[in-house]
Amino acid sequence: MALVGRVLTVECPCSGTPHKEDTVTFKSVLGIAGGVAGIAAMVAAVQDLGDKFNNISLAGYVFPVYLAHTVESWTFLDAEGKPVPVEDGDAVLPFGTKYQIADAADDLFGEEITRPLAEMIRKSSPSGQMPKSISPNRRSGASRRSRSAPSSQDASADTEPLTA
Ligand SMILES: [Zn+2]
Repeated sequence: MALVGRVLTVECPCSGTPHKEDTVTFKSVLGIAGGVAGIAAMVAAVQDLGDKFNNISLAGYVFPVYLAHTVESWTFLDAEGKPVPVEDGDAVLPFGTKYQIADAADDLFGEEITRPLAEMIRKSSPSGQMPKSISPNRRSGASRRSRSAPSSQDASADTEPLTA
Protein backbone atom coordinates (compact mmCIF):
# COMPACT_ATOMS: atom_id res chain seq x y z
CA MET A 1 0.00 0.00 0.00
CA ALA A 2 1.29 3.43 -0.91
CA LEU A 3 -0.30 6.83 -0.85
CA VAL A 4 1.19 9.21 -3.40
CA GLY A 5 -0.51 12.58 -3.52
CA ARG A 6 -4.19 11.72 -3.52
CA VAL A 7 -3.81 8.28 -5.07
CA LEU A 8 -3.60 5.14 -2.95
CA THR A 9 -2.26 1.94 -4.49
CA VAL A 10 -3.48 -1.33 -2.98
CA GLU A 11 -3.23 -5.03 -3.68
CA CYS A 12 -6.00 -6.10 -6.05
CA PRO A 13 -8.91 -7.49 -4.00
CA CYS A 14 -11.18 -7.99 -7.00
CA SER A 15 -12.72 -11.34 -7.85
CA GLY A 16 -10.21 -13.39 -9.87
CA THR A 17 -7.45 -10.81 -9.26
CA PRO A 18 -7.67 -9.19 -12.70
CA HIS A 19 -5.26 -6.37 -11.77
CA LYS A 20 -1.65 -6.14 -10.74
CA GLU A 21 -2.83 -3.53 -8.29
CA ASP A 22 -5.76 -1.19 -7.79
CA THR A 23 -5.79 2.53 -7.20
CA VAL A 24 -8.08 4.71 -5.11
CA THR A 25 -8.23 8.42 -5.92
CA PHE A 26 -9.34 10.66 -3.09
CA LYS A 27 -11.33 13.85 -3.46
CA SER A 28 -9.28 16.99 -3.78
CA VAL A 29 -11.23 18.55 -0.91
CA LEU A 30 -13.39 17.15 1.85
CA GLY A 31 -17.06 18.00 1.28
CA ILE A 32 -18.99 19.83 3.97
CA ALA A 33 -21.20 16.80 4.67
CA GLY A 34 -18.18 14.56 5.09
CA GLY A 35 -16.35 17.05 7.29
CA VAL A 36 -19.29 17.58 9.60
CA ALA A 37 -19.98 13.84 9.68
CA GLY A 38 -16.35 13.31 10.67
CA ILE A 39 -16.57 15.84 13.49
CA ALA A 40 -19.85 14.31 14.69
CA ALA A 41 -18.26 10.85 14.66
CA MET A 42 -15.31 12.06 16.74
CA VAL A 43 -17.58 13.80 19.23
CA ALA A 44 -19.67 10.64 19.53
CA ALA A 45 -16.52 8.59 20.07
CA VAL A 46 -15.28 10.88 22.84
CA GLN A 47 -18.68 10.87 24.56
CA ASP A 48 -19.30 7.12 24.20
CA LEU A 49 -15.82 5.83 24.96
CA GLY A 50 -14.76 8.09 27.81
CA ASP A 51 -11.78 6.48 29.54
CA LYS A 52 -11.72 3.66 26.99
CA PHE A 53 -10.94 6.12 24.18
CA ASN A 54 -8.11 4.98 21.92
CA ASN A 55 -7.23 5.19 18.25
CA ILE A 56 -8.67 1.86 17.19
CA SER A 57 -11.95 2.56 18.99
CA LEU A 58 -12.04 5.98 17.38
CA ALA A 59 -11.57 4.32 13.99
CA GLY A 60 -14.83 2.47 14.53
CA TYR A 61 -16.59 5.81 14.49
CA VAL A 62 -14.58 7.78 11.96
CA PHE A 63 -13.42 5.24 9.36
CA PRO A 64 -16.91 4.57 7.95
CA VAL A 65 -17.25 8.32 7.42
CA TYR A 66 -13.96 8.37 5.54
CA LEU A 67 -14.99 5.48 3.33
CA ALA A 68 -18.33 7.14 2.54
CA HIS A 69 -17.10 10.69 1.97
CA THR A 70 -13.49 10.88 0.80
CA VAL A 71 -13.22 8.66 -2.30
CA GLU A 72 -13.46 10.25 -5.74
CA SER A 73 -12.99 7.06 -7.77
CA TRP A 74 -11.31 3.66 -7.76
CA THR A 75 -10.49 0.82 -10.11
CA PHE A 76 -12.20 -2.05 -8.25
CA LEU A 77 -14.34 -4.48 -10.23
CA ASP A 78 -17.10 -6.72 -8.94
CA ALA A 79 -17.46 -10.47 -9.56
CA GLU A 80 -18.99 -9.77 -12.98
CA GLY A 81 -16.14 -7.51 -14.01
CA LYS A 82 -18.17 -4.32 -13.64
CA PRO A 83 -16.81 -1.25 -11.84
CA VAL A 84 -17.78 -1.11 -8.18
CA PRO A 85 -19.65 2.17 -7.52
CA VAL A 86 -17.97 4.18 -4.77
CA GLU A 87 -21.18 4.13 -2.71
CA ASP A 88 -21.19 0.31 -2.84
CA GLY A 89 -17.66 -0.08 -1.51
CA ASP A 90 -18.57 -1.09 2.00
CA ALA A 91 -20.82 -3.87 0.72
CA VAL A 92 -18.36 -5.22 -1.87
CA LEU A 93 -14.75 -4.68 -0.82
CA PRO A 94 -12.94 -6.87 1.73
CA PHE A 95 -12.38 -5.32 5.14
CA GLY A 96 -8.60 -5.09 4.74
CA THR A 97 -8.93 -2.98 1.61
CA LYS A 98 -11.52 -0.70 3.20
CA TYR A 99 -9.32 -0.26 6.25
CA GLN A 100 -6.38 0.76 4.07
CA ILE A 101 -8.57 3.27 2.23
CA ALA A 102 -9.89 4.80 5.47
CA ASP A 103 -6.42 4.86 6.99
CA ALA A 104 -5.07 6.77 3.97
CA ALA A 105 -8.07 9.11 4.13
CA ASP A 106 -7.17 9.80 7.75
CA ASP A 107 -3.69 10.83 6.62
CA LEU A 108 -5.20 13.17 4.03
CA PHE A 109 -8.19 14.61 5.87
CA GLY A 110 -7.82 13.76 9.56
CA GLU A 111 -6.30 17.09 10.49
CA GLU A 112 -9.03 18.98 8.64
CA ILE A 113 -11.54 17.34 10.96
CA THR A 114 -9.62 17.52 14.24
CA ARG A 115 -8.64 21.18 13.84
CA PRO A 116 -12.19 22.64 13.97
CA LEU A 117 -13.09 20.03 16.58
CA ALA A 118 -10.27 21.18 18.85
CA GLU A 119 -11.43 24.77 18.38
CA MET A 120 -14.98 23.82 19.39
CA ILE A 121 -13.74 22.04 22.51
CA ARG A 122 -11.62 25.04 23.46
CA LYS A 123 -14.57 27.42 23.10
CA SER A 124 -16.99 25.24 25.09
CA SER A 125 -14.50 24.50 27.88
CA PRO A 126 -15.52 25.83 31.34
CA SER A 127 -11.95 27.09 31.84
CA GLY A 128 -12.57 29.54 29.00
CA GLN A 129 -15.26 31.31 31.01
CA MET A 130 -14.73 33.98 33.63
CA PRO A 131 -15.18 32.30 37.02
CA LYS A 132 -16.39 35.51 38.69
CA SER A 133 -18.19 38.61 37.52
CA ILE A 134 -15.86 40.85 39.51
CA SER A 135 -13.60 42.86 37.25
CA PRO A 136 -9.90 42.13 37.96
CA ASN A 137 -8.93 45.84 37.98
CA ARG A 138 -11.18 46.46 41.01
CA ARG A 139 -9.15 44.03 43.08
CA SER A 140 -6.04 45.14 44.95
CA GLY A 141 -4.47 41.68 44.60
CA ALA A 142 -4.50 41.71 40.82
CA SER A 143 -0.90 42.78 40.24
CA ARG A 144 0.47 40.45 42.90
CA ARG A 145 -1.60 37.58 41.53
CA SER A 146 -0.26 38.05 38.02
CA ARG A 147 3.29 37.32 39.25
CA SER A 148 2.23 34.10 40.97
CA ALA A 149 0.09 31.32 39.54
CA PRO A 150 -2.94 32.99 37.91
CA SER A 151 -5.49 30.34 38.86
CA SER A 152 -9.14 30.70 39.76
CA GLN A 153 -8.34 29.27 43.20
CA ASP A 154 -6.18 32.31 43.86
CA ALA A 155 -9.03 34.56 42.80
CA SER A 156 -11.51 33.05 45.25
CA ALA A 157 -8.96 33.04 48.07
CA ASP A 158 -8.35 36.75 47.52
CA THR A 159 -12.02 37.61 47.19
CA GLU A 160 -13.45 35.83 50.20
CA PRO A 161 -11.82 38.02 52.90
CA LEU A 162 -13.38 41.09 51.25
CA THR A 163 -16.89 39.74 51.61
CA ALA A 164 -16.44 38.21 55.09
ZN1 LIG B 1 -8.54 -5.18 -8.78
